[in-house]
Amino acid sequence: MNQISLLVELQNLDMKSDENASARVLLEKKLADTAGLDAAHAALERADKQAHDLKAQLRALELETNGLAEKLKTVNERLYSGRITNAKELAGLNQDEKMLARRKSELEDQELALMEQIENADNAARDQRGLYEKIAADTNARNKKEHAQLDALDAADAELARKRDSIRAQLSLETLRVYDELRQTKKGRAVAMMKGSSCATCGYEVPSGLISRVRAGTELVFCSNCQRILAS
Ligand SMILES: [Zn+2]
Repeated sequence: MNQISLLVELQNLDMKSDENASARVLLEKKLADTAGLDAAHAALERADKQAHDLKAQLRALELETNGLAEKLKTVNERLYSGRITNAKELAGLNQDEKMLARRKSELEDQELALMEQIENADNAARDQRGLYEKIAADTNARNKKEHAQLDALDAADAELARKRDSIRAQLSLETLRVYDELRQTKKGRAVAMMKGSSCATCGYEVPSGLISRVRAGTELVFCSNCQRILAS
């Protein structure tokens, strides 16, 4: 293979390697992006906390209701013990009993309302847990796929490097220096193919005197417009 054909081959390998590097960046970005999973987890924690807080409220309400029931029992025992004969005291106890019974009834209504809220909150937390687990499983499956793609890129890069080294070993240091410099300054494309009598990269017409030298492939001929190495 002549020098220029080797350079074309080298450029193909280098550009494939560049593509792999871009693909790697995308894959690593995807793997690092846990926003969806994090949001689902935060929503699950909020739903769990909501249910937990309502249950704590219910327990406090139950304690208060039990305390009232105790007081009501004491009042009732005194009221119906027959030991209290003072009319004013009896009227007072009667009033206490009514007040306590009303308050107890209010608390019991609140307990019922809370129980309904707890049921809704438990359902919401269960749904949210299902959603989180689904997102976690999907993320896991996707991550596995992305890790497998990264492994495939590693293998492809190792193969590309092996082929590239073998081609570079066949090129002169001076040719490699020119090629590497152009790769740096020409967005990775150091070699331009000739299409008919034009540079396929920039479209510039190659002077007829140069075309046969390009076709011979034995020396570096540059496009006088984009300065890339011309190949046929
Ligand atoms: Zn050109």
